[in-house]
Amino acid sequence: MMDYDVIVIGAGPGGMTAAMYAARANLKVAMLDRGVYGGQMNNTDDIENYPGYQSIKGPELGERMYETATNAGVEFVYGDVQEVTIDAQQTKHIRTDSDEITTKVVIIATGSTNRKLGVLGEEKYSGKGISYCAVCDGAFFKNKEVTVIGGGDSAISEGLYLANITNNVNIIHRRDQLRAQKVLQNRAFANDKMAFTWHASVTEIIGDDQHVTGIKMLDNQTGEEKVVNTSGVFIYVGNVPNSQMFKNLDITDEAGWIVTDTEMATSVPGIYAVGDVRQKKLRQITTAVGDGGIAGQNAFEYIERLN
Ligand code: FAD
Repeated sequence: MMDYDVIVIGAGPGGMTAAMYAARANLKVAMLDRGVYGGQMNNTDDIENYPGYQSIKGPELGERMYETATNAGVEFVYGDVQEVTIDAQQTKHIRTDSDEITTKVVIIATGSTNRKLGVLGEEKYSGKGISYCAVCDGAFFKNKEVTVIGGGDSAISEGLYLANITNNVNIIHRRDQLRAQKVLQNRAFANDKMAFTWHASVTEIIGDDQHVTGIKMLDNQTGEEKVVNTSGVFIYVGNVPNSQMFKNLDITDEAGWIVTDTEMATSVPGIYAVGDVRQKKLRQITTAVGDGGIAGQNAFEYIERLN
């Protein structure tokens, strides 16, 4: 007797939607997460690009998606997934930090983690002035000056969030143009608390052993190196997939993103992947939710074919 029809690993927007669709098809479904449900939405303040809401706080959207999934019959189970194996009967065995669970279908929705900058001082001052989450840590920098490293959506939207709390936000970007959506760029350029340093790479984060006091940066055009004082450094330089635990399945590209077809199927029958962990171009809540709907429905069709 199998524990579940479908196990969804990760309860962010992708996973919660996949689980909801599978449960509405009358399957026995659980979503596993190693933390609280909501995923990256818990680290986001205002979400302004999710249809149906002019603006909604990330944790609130997470709460609503959780209610929709659990009302459809999805169980939420705590578990840090270590490995997935498949036996000769095609049953999938999910090993967590505390349990082993069996299922017919696995939907992987484990998202991604912030990429580290990889410079001297980053490890030493992480949590002592260095952060990867403005919503989590911004309040520690009230009325101070902070630095944001990066030029994409996350860097600019979190920079704008920090501008509401701090005195000044210096955005450091290695190019001379931002990659963020135009609407965010316009808002950032119009905000007099935000300053921009172009063509610059941070080479070291420095401090007094207890806390960050500044950064060392290199002007990529002139080669000039200088030290700038700052009390906080927020790093948004991209993401790495949370897929190490699926290495044995051989379903990722070289960088670790899980490869699927347009039906969210991986190369392993009965294993699907959705959301940010997938090899794709646009990593957003809307696209994670779209992936989730497709995978949830395909889980049902896969199980129908087994019967
Ligand atoms: P995630 O939301 O990352 O959820 C993955 C879940 O998997 C997590 O709960 C994690 O705990 C769990 N997990 C991981 N590994 C394991 C494991 N081994 N075992 C068990 N559970 C595991 N998108 C927008 O559309 N609009 C925005 O305004 C927006 N702002 C953003 C701001 C910031 C600062 C960030 C970082 C992202 C923002 N995004 C925004 C992007 C959006 O949050 C993601 O695209 C979306 O959350 C991806 O959903 P997901 O379900 O794929 O993964």
